[in-house]
Amino acid sequence: MRGKSTPLRLIRLLILDVDGVLTDGRLRYGAGGEIEKVFHVRDGYGIKAVQALGIIVAVVSGRSSEAVAQRCSELGIDELHQGVNDKSVSLQALLARHGLEPAQCACVGDDLPDLPLLRAVGLGVAVRDAHPGACAAAHRRTRLPGGAGAVREVCDWLLAAHERRPKHRRRAQ
Ligand SMILES: [Mg+2]
Repeated sequence: MRGKSTPLRLIRLLILDVDGVLTDGRLRYGAGGEIEKVFHVRDGYGIKAVQALGIIVAVVSGRSSEAVAQRCSELGIDELHQGVNDKSVSLQALLARHGLEPAQCACVGDDLPDLPLLRAVGLGVAVRDAHPGACAAAHRRTRLPGGAGAVREVCDWLLAAHERRPKHRRRAQ
């Protein structure tokens, strides 16, 4: 685990990996070769809730699938980056587009392709069943594994931090 993270109340952008974070990492191939993914409904509720606070949610995946596009569309996630080889490129694009600093970002990952993000952002989170390399690069680790509510857990941290802020200062940043 890394040292101190950015205070949760300063996070303005939440970057999520797909496989192993929004899903349990297993890929199910249908008869026609299409890939099915299973998402957790409670993660969806958490994503909606942090969006309502004004936090931008982005999904950055090394793979590419129609199921992910559908899920993101359902959740109102405009920042969907699929088929990404180097996730730091997506991070730079996101920071530039939204005028943010890395310290204002949180990232949830589970494996080595997430390392550039976990190392760069203000709050790097590894899911419970993440690869040891991802755990070492992260500030925190969730109690729940990927695809089983880990993203909801992180959303709940952000929501709780927001609730603790004085009312007149909310949405001020
Ligand atoms: Mg992954």
